[in-house]
Amino acid sequence: MVENMKAKYKYLSRNGKNHAEHRLIMEKHLNRKLRDNEDIHHVNGDGFDNGVENLQVIIHGQHSRFHALQRGKKINCVCFVCNKHFVIPQHEYRYRIKRSKSGNLFCSNKCAFSILPKRLLDIDDLIISEINGGLTGYAIAKKHKFDRKTVYNHIKRINLMSNKSVS
Ligand SMILES: [Zn+2]
Ligand SMILES: [Zn+2]
Repeated sequence: MVENMKAKYKYLSRNGKNHAEHRLIMEKHLNRKLRDNEDIHHVNGDGFDNGVENLQVIIHGQHSRFHALQRGKKINCVCFVCNKHFVIPQHEYRYRIKRSKSGNLFCSNKCAFSILPKRLLDIDDLIISEINGGLTGYAIAKKHKFDRKTVYNHIKRINLMSNKSVS
């Protein structure tokens, strides 16, 4: 067994063929052959650290995506409400712009919700007071003739509002 190094990983030569050591280690650990679509991800980013606790099996497509996102560009943004600067990955930026009806970006759910139309906030207030009064989402929908999904969406948003950050 001859050890030889290639750019990013350790390779072992066996019967004239090169094998990535991390794959052999994981196969031994799992006691089965890895499938062609199974990659091994090095958790700490060091391709030479083949300790089994540093290795993770990931389906190839997801693995490529993960590293593409990691390499991805970061975008500097300014919150429309509080003017705070924040940085998000490009894919997240594209997603938020696409989703945003106003075209504005917000540093947190709190800021985003602070400029919701008043009508929606009124429904939030109503739901909060009913929940404080002991009603369930189901009971609130029934009592006020709301669509049940609408009530749950509001409850979800109320919960989100108490969190600080979107990401
Ligand atoms: Zn990886
Ligand atoms: Zn803000």
